[in-house]
Amino acid sequence: MRVLVVEDDIPLATILERGLVEDGYAVDLAHRVIDARHYAESNDYDVVVLDLGLPDGNGLDLCAELRADGFAVPILMLTARDSLSDKVSGLDSGADDYLTKPFDYPELAARLRALVRRPADARSPVLEVGELKLDPASRRVWMGAIVVPFTSREFSLLEYLMIHVSEVVSRTELLEHVWDANYDGLSNVVDVHIANLRRKLAGPGGAATIETVRGAGYRLSASKEAEGERS
Ligand code: CA
Repeated sequence: MRVLVVEDDIPLATILERGLVEDGYAVDLAHRVIDARHYAESNDYDVVVLDLGLPDGNGLDLCAELRADGFAVPILMLTARDSLSDKVSGLDSGADDYLTKPFDYPELAARLRALVRRPADARSPVLEVGELKLDPASRRVWMGAIVVPFTSREFSLLEYLMIHVSEVVSRTELLEHVWDANYDGLSNVVDVHIANLRRKLAGPGGAATIETVRGAGYRLSASKEAEGERS
């Protein structure tokens, strides 16, 4: 999952970035409206955290502008002011949710999870593909009854592939949703992580396979053996 954080308070932005990276998000930070607009137009985000007061404009206007341009990504608005009119304006401008400062990071994280998952996964937060299960809230993965450790990036990659199970997902799409703007676009970072995922998925209780679709990308499916064992 890739998140754009628009926040001019550098210490707060840094805390958010640290927490989100730890939670497995790819994070881009923007401190001004102009940078935020540029990022929103050039990258593919899963969710946006948007501060209301910014040095070169305000979050409400930016939100309204983005929505007018057809930007459909969920937006969580941050406001320092706990007034009803700010909340109403925030939601009117096209934000999906708001959070009043000061807030605790876990609350922000929980709200982002709810936004990212809405509406398709709202009823079933745990992803399942064959014997492979992934719980985004606890960030755990099971193969059968065994908990398998994954790095933060591997987890995000697997989560994205599981959301798009049986679909071909391109390398570019993975870079857009799992990595932030600082990745080295020329490196084989996706291939390396896919290789690591495959190795882990092939372990005891191996439940899913990641197939390379030549010239198109990757496809995660429940492994045939696991299906066979169950039938
Ligand atoms: Ca601010």
